[in-house]
Amino acid sequence: MAAPIIVVPFMKPAGMALFPFILIHDEKLKADKTLIRHENIHLQQQIELLVIPFYLLYVINYLVNLLQYKNHQQAYIQIIFEREAYQHENDVDYLTNRKLWGWIKYLKIKQ
Ligand SMILES: [Zn+2]
Repeated sequence: MAAPIIVVPFMKPAGMALFPFILIHDEKLKADKTLIRHENIHLQQQIELLVIPFYLLYVINYLVNLLQYKNHQQAYIQIIFEREAYQHENDVDYLTNRKLWGWIKYLKIKQ
């Protein structure tokens, strides 16, 4: 399934997965295979969590991380869904081989 890509120039992040779309802030980013793959991993996470629970878990995970790290960037990068997406965004076969709920293993507390 190829997700429709929408260019949103006023959006701050380079990319964002908003099921069933991938939003990017610049037309040129359509060629950024790593970014598109990263966002496709998020779309897969959203599908398997029936979309809305994904966003709830994402925000809760961010807030818990923010309490722990007291730093936005660190709190963001440690979100379990981001950890899976960043770890595998360069793996062209990842989405083909990925198991259901591939983000579960990132639930382990990282020290
Ligand atoms: Zn991400």
